[in-house]
Amino acid sequence: MHPVYLYNTLTRRKDEFSPIVPGQVGMYTCGPTVYQYATIGNMRSYVFADILRRVLEYNGYSVKMVMNITDVGHLVSDADEGEDKMLVAVGREKKTPWEIARFYTEAFMKDAALLNILRPTVVCYATEHIEEMLKMVVELVEKGYAYETSDGIYFDISRFSDYGQLSGIRLEEQLAGARVEANPEKRHHADFALWKKAPKEHIMQWPSPWGMGYPGWHIECSAMSRKYLGDEFDIHTGGVDHIPIHHENEIAQSASCTGKIPARVWMHGEFLLVDGGKMSKSLGNTYTIDDLAAKGFEPLAFRYFCFSAHYRSHLNFTWAALESAQRGLRSLRSAVQKYAREPERPGAEEKLEGFREAFLESVNDDLNMPKAVSVLWEAAKADLGPGLATLAGEFDRVLALDLLKGPVDEDRPLAPQEIPPEVLEILEERKLARQAKDWATSDRLREKLKAMGYHVKDLKDGYEVTRLPR
Ligand code: AMP
Ligand code: ZN
Repeated sequence: MHPVYLYNTLTRRKDEFSPIVPGQVGMYTCGPTVYQYATIGNMRSYVFADILRRVLEYNGYSVKMVMNITDVGHLVSDADEGEDKMLVAVGREKKTPWEIARFYTEAFMKDAALLNILRPTVVCYATEHIEEMLKMVVELVEKGYAYETSDGIYFDISRFSDYGQLSGIRLEEQLAGARVEANPEKRHHADFALWKKAPKEHIMQWPSPWGMGYPGWHIECSAMSRKYLGDEFDIHTGGVDHIPIHHENEIAQSASCTGKIPARVWMHGEFLLVDGGKMSKSLGNTYTIDDLAAKGFEPLAFRYFCFSAHYRSHLNFTWAALESAQRGLRSLRSAVQKYAREPERPGAEEKLEGFREAFLESVNDDLNMPKAVSVLWEAAKADLGPGLATLAGEFDRVLALDLLKGPVDEDRPLAPQEIPPEVLEILEERKLARQAKDWATSDRLREKLKAMGYHVKDLKDGYEVTRLPR
């Protein structure tokens, strides 16, 4: 097997990956909170997790990928403060929390499928694992890691001396949410809820040793990762926002129960920005995959766009950048699909090996997708004949861009501003000839356009122009 190097937030190093059981990988991905549509930012995170899984599989590993669906629990901010988001959605949509969760889970799964994100091996719902969570909370109370207050059960971080090891943030530096009134019953401001006692009007609630209540967000991932992957597994992924609170808390809970940090490798995807800034409802730029489709973009153009930055770097979304991604993807497909129909080139096989190695080396270097895509572009320019299609088919096991079957550049009618003036001139000349029923000139000009690389299709009152395969 080839070495795979992955950056581990916990060790702050790119380490050679070595799974607990040779040839097998257990991986847990923090899933979506389902009370609203996933944004393209959220989807960037899941494209990253999908790439990781695909790269491991490309290397011959058998991967068990577990992803949770947060349909209860992450109702307030990461630090358990602020509004209950599900209650806000209930008020907004006049549906039950269960209906809301089901609706947005389906919407998420649909977006994921459009982005060729493989379905995780196990998709687990928080509401179906209350028993496992309660068991862990009871264990933590019994071992003295948690205490009861009037509104819930809290983890006592002073009992976990390694708290902060993932983020490197020292507890003293963490301020209690400045604008939110700190809970006076908490022993330390960073103590967090394992279980909340439910007021009567709280819709989602379950019986517990402390009366009716509902789980905290962090315990969900500790309980479900333990159930499906065991006390210790290989990789845990999430977005960078999970590092300082959610994943610190997961580690504190799990390690206090089992004596082990649950995952060996912790990987985090950096945020997507929009127009250089944070996405926010107030700016109206919390775009969804549907929003991109409504503007005529293929969801896979967004996947391709995600590969333009390394997963540990910010990626800045603009409509212009997405447009150039869609153009890039389609011309890449054009090359691949055109060469697939051409005769074999002598000596191509040898060159293919070089590209295969370069691609593998790139993806195995902490998922360097910009490099991996550039390897394919180089191959597209290397006159490999149908070998290019063979290569693209192999690489597409990781890239998943529908290189062999997706729409190509030529399928897209060009916008007037995309047509060069000299081509536009001939098109207009031809239009006049057609109006004068001068078919000979019309045919001659069609041939001329063809020689220039354009195909013209006549419509009832005008024409449509597409690019011919190069
Ligand atoms: P949530 O549904 O809020 O729990 O978020 C789902 C995932 O999306 C988490 O892994 C977050 O870290 C991630 N996420 C949220 N916003 C962004 C963003 N702007 N860019 C990339 N990932 C994000
Ligand atoms: Zn989680």
